[in-house]
Amino acid sequence: MLKGKTALVTGSTSGIGLGIAVALARQGANIVLNGFGDVEAPRAQVLEAGKAAGIKVGYHGADMSKAAEIEAMMKYAAAEFGRVDILVNNAGIQHVAKIQDFPVEKWDAIMAINLSSAFHTTRLALPAMQQANWGRIINVASVHGLVGSAEKSAYVAAKHGVVGLTKVTALENATTGVTCNAICPGWVLTPLVQKQVDAKAAAQGISNEEATKLLLGEKEPSQQFTTPEELGELAVFFCSAAAGNVRGVAWNMDGGWAAQ
Ligand code: NAD
Repeated sequence: MLKGKTALVTGSTSGIGLGIAVALARQGANIVLNGFGDVEAPRAQVLEAGKAAGIKVGYHGADMSKAAEIEAMMKYAAAEFGRVDILVNNAGIQHVAKIQDFPVEKWDAIMAINLSSAFHTTRLALPAMQQANWGRIINVASVHGLVGSAEKSAYVAAKHGVVGLTKVTALENATTGVTCNAICPGWVLTPLVQKQVDAKAAAQGISNEEATKLLLGEKEPSQQFTTPEELGELAVFFCSAAAGNVRGVAWNMDGGWAAQ
């Protein structure tokens, strides 16, 4: 379905970003990976997913908190792949603390990585998408783009910002073949959430299993994690022809979290 298209997925060396990259590769899209840590294992996984379509996989290690590095990444993608047809803004970090104790540098980092990076990639990707009259921008927000939780001020503020940016991007391109939508996951068991499970287990002197149950029980009526594979399939839908007039939605996959 996506053969000949190129998808750039920020923060795709792990978790949800990797799940989305694999799902898009399976549909035949070339993939530009980005993120920290080991690159070879995720690259091999994405190459394998796109083997039948003979996809090409690139990587750029831009730090999403730095506008100049984001510009370098977008230039790299254009030079190596011609154009970014599908942009998935996924890189993100979390920090948990009450507002009066929230480290200022963590606030700034979360704003830069979780929100401003999506503005930079979007402004740089749009001209070529508009010229081609086809493009898909998918912002990985969160259920925290729709509702709040205590001790997550920066994250909730940034994710509400991402949902707002999604709507404006959709509106500014509403008469074109360029769409923009947000995905709002509930709990997904990635390293980002494992840290929160570990912190809960340590703070309450309970097992990892009990902490996981508590975490799900507090928020997620389904008592189940959403998986990167499921989120990948939603991204595939947003890239399909059937989703050509889906514009500016914030679609939660959250086990009923926001329905409460
Ligand atoms: P993760 O920690 O598994 O992956 C984060 C990815 O972002 C990694 O590839 C990491 O290297 C990359 N990254 C971090 N800082 C970066 C930076 N400065 N520059 C470039 N890359 C950077 O986390 P995840 O859970 O897969 O989260 C992915 C996205 O999904 C985030 O935006 C997160 O807010 C969102 N999300 C996660 C959950 C969840 O429950 N895990 C729920 C809702 C939304």
